[in-house]
Amino acid sequence: MKCIICHSTDISLCRVNEQLSRGKDMILVPVEVLVCNNCGERYYDRRTMQKLEKIEDAVNAGRLSLERVGEVLRVRQGLVPA
Ligand SMILES: [Zn+2]
Repeated sequence: MKCIICHSTDISLCRVNEQLSRGKDMILVPVEVLVCNNCGERYYDRRTMQKLEKIEDAVNAGRLSLERVGEVLRVRQGLVPA
């Protein structure tokens, strides 16, 4: 397999955290996907896409238990250094 972005053949199955959003919250879903080790492009097969859709439905329906892993913080508007 060749990366469609950078044409590297250095692609391997990696465990990544896919991000879903729910309102202001971000939910991380650990999944295994093919990742280009050169440019970071991720490749999703049909099965992985379907799995992610199922997980998203389950999360939205409150059927999956979630654990708190950190906080999302933002620099206040107007205080970003030039
Ligand atoms: Zn690539």
